[in-house]
Amino acid sequence: MTNKIKTGEIICVGTELLLGQIINTNAAWLAKALSDLGVSSYYQTVVGDNRGRLLDCLEQASKRSDLIVLTGGLGPTQDDITMSVAAEFCGQPLMMHEPSRSKIAGYFKKMGRLQVTDNNWKQAMFPRDATVMENNNGTAPGARLRYESNHKTTHLVLLPGPPSEMRPMFSESVKPWLTEMTATRLRHLFVRMIGIGESSAETQLLDLIEQQQNPTLAPYASEGEVVFRITQSLKDVSDPDLTQDVLNKVKARLGKYIYEVGERKMPEVVKDMLEEKGMTISFAESCTAGLAAATLAQYPGASHVLTGGLVAYDNQVKNQILGVDQAILDREGAVSEACAVAMATGCRDVFKTDFSVSITGIAGPEGGTPEKPVGTVWLAAASVKGTSVRKLQMGGNRERIRRVSVLNAFDLIRQQILLID
Ligand code: ATP
Repeated sequence: MTNKIKTGEIICVGTELLLGQIINTNAAWLAKALSDLGVSSYYQTVVGDNRGRLLDCLEQASKRSDLIVLTGGLGPTQDDITMSVAAEFCGQPLMMHEPSRSKIAGYFKKMGRLQVTDNNWKQAMFPRDATVMENNNGTAPGARLRYESNHKTTHLVLLPGPPSEMRPMFSESVKPWLTEMTATRLRHLFVRMIGIGESSAETQLLDLIEQQQNPTLAPYASEGEVVFRITQSLKDVSDPDLTQDVLNKVKARLGKYIYEVGERKMPEVVKDMLEEKGMTISFAESCTAGLAAATLAQYPGASHVLTGGLVAYDNQVKNQILGVDQAILDREGAVSEACAVAMATGCRDVFKTDFSVSITGIAGPEGGTPEKPVGTVWLAAASVKGTSVRKLQMGGNRERIRRVSVLNAFDLIRQQILLID
């Protein structure tokens, strides 16, 4: 079909992006969203708040893509030019959109601001033929419009810059429309593994990766764990599911490392397992200083399983609150198996939880020794089934060491939960 959307590209507007003042997370998020919907995207552009250069970008993009998704520059100020430049590009005048105007008026009334400055009404002005997309998380609505040139149609989608507004608007208003507009349907399966390195996993699956045409099997970058994506391209939504066959082949080779087939990451898997069993958890964290507890708390429903956590950074806290024997600290040091075990069991006593996890290590860049270099981390998980430990020896910087420690701490707990019937 000629009018189906096959190719798309992303243009993020904002001088602050060019200056490196903000990170372009919108592009990464949208790239994934487009790929999930079967839209092939070959280009991403960042352009400042400049009419001429933005027109230039639109000109180029419209020649090579069926869809252009723009973010940013929809606000009320002088430098927010995306809507007016898109109107100019499509040869359409800007016109007042009455429902948006009254929504903006209502919003300011609700906020107790009776004086609405003139520039706010700018956010109710849209190209004549645009489809307006409501913003349920801010004031600037988005828009969709068509650009016709040389018998080619390009669809423009304009979204606000703040991710907290852009993402829901995409999900609520763009995704349903785009699903109708694309010919390709993709069926994705994410296979998440831990305890094996990416190159080793890839080597063991290499023949499948190379031979598979549809579905394809490909590694997917992920920190501290290995993720493979199985993608089937469908002609019709009723096509039989071929991903399971590939999944079974992957399971036959690497099944023991797989902790999830789906979208959930390790902490969420652990939260769900605990919730299912009606069990609770607490944390005693040294080098991660609360990161594990905070990671769990990201997920709705965490309050059902997370009892509490203690930042046991200083040895005095390890000793006086968690009851780690001073002799262990003197003899073996805080970064040791014995200390990790004592922290986990002590934490379980303090919080009276079913499980407790401890994390103690050297995140660096200072503090390493030849026996205990930076990246040495001891983890322990205590439960009614006893205590299990894991030693990590990691490379990378402080942030990575802390994040990967947390990921492994959740895996250690997962293994303990599996022991409980
Ligand atoms: P507003 O109505 O808030 O002005 P807007 O649509 O005009 O929204 P911008 O003014 O371009 O958007 O950006 C507002 C904020 O949104 C930026 O300061 C930044 O925090 C965030 N933002 C914009 N573009 C991006 C991007 N590409 N990636 C991540 N964040 C972004």
